[in-house]
Amino acid sequence: MSERAQVAKNGAVLLGDSVACDAFHETRPLRIVTHAHADHLGGLRKSLKCCDKVLMTKATRDLAETLDESLKLRDASMKTLEYGKVFRYGDEKITLLKADHILGAAQVLVEDAGGIRIAYSGDFRIDETPVVECDVLVVDATYGSPSFRRSFDVNVRELLVTMIETRLRGGAVYVFGYHGKLQEIMQLLRNADVSVPFVMPERVYEVTKVCEQHGMKLGCLSLSTDADGHELLGKNLPCVAFYHMNSRGYVGLNNARICVSGWEFHSPCRQIGDREYLVALSDHSDFDGIMDYVKRSKAKQVITDNYRVSHGAILAKEIHKRLGVSAVAMPRTHGQTTL
Ligand SMILES: [Zn+2]
Repeated sequence: MSERAQVAKNGAVLLGDSVACDAFHETRPLRIVTHAHADHLGGLRKSLKCCDKVLMTKATRDLAETLDESLKLRDASMKTLEYGKVFRYGDEKITLLKADHILGAAQVLVEDAGGIRIAYSGDFRIDETPVVECDVLVVDATYGSPSFRRSFDVNVRELLVTMIETRLRGGAVYVFGYHGKLQEIMQLLRNADVSVPFVMPERVYEVTKVCEQHGMKLGCLSLSTDADGHELLGKNLPCVAFYHMNSRGYVGLNNARICVSGWEFHSPCRQIGDREYLVALSDHSDFDGIMDYVKRSKAKQVITDNYRVSHGAILAKEIHKRLGVSAVAMPRTHGQTTL
């Protein structure tokens, strides 16, 4: 049964006979993109050219096009698929299911002609990800080592909102994070009735607009380059400025600053600079979340994704040891470093 799924050397997650997820593979006529993060878009142009069909959710299509304007995702081979809708290809049934990660993120289920259920979790956070019961599972291994646990006794989301609210009394607060997570924080703040303007550079603004088109309600948004945004930041008025993590070194250096990252396991919040804090909000499950997913999936065979992170082998060993389930890391040698 193990040959029903594998992770190829280039990161393509191969399911059943026809599907390659998250990278191009010359043997597969169907390409699926689970979500719009760059390490899941490998060889997409080639897939559009060579594959019979390229499948993803509408939100993933819109986000991917926004993050890379040179991508054209409206041609004949492209097909958007809603969560839960079955797409038939040959003898196989393919379904995308919601993954709690970023807007549009999906898990993939392939049911083959013999009724074997083959699933790929994609990137996920266990909180609101429905576990797919399956025979063979390919699972994300980002926090696949037992040292990657975030068992904090506080609610990190509430803590983050309170930190931002408190610091707004001193003017603009800068938040640094990755695409998708920044918008999740915007939504958290609006849900908590934080009504100050949100200011952001163009790329973050465009991603935020896509999130609004797909149902998020994010209130007053200003571009940092427009007169409004310029004034808010220039005069240090109460607002929240959202920037990609890559901008951390050169914007808002004299303001309250909050970096949001999953790579923090000791404390939900840690001071890392004069007025700068790191808050441990992740869009991936920690080790316990991954184990919980594997257990509830009832998979008899597990493959850990050893391409996007280097913990696949450790995770496979732990799955076998703790759950008694056969597990292997693929590809055998870790393929690339990740964000
Ligand atoms: Zn991701």
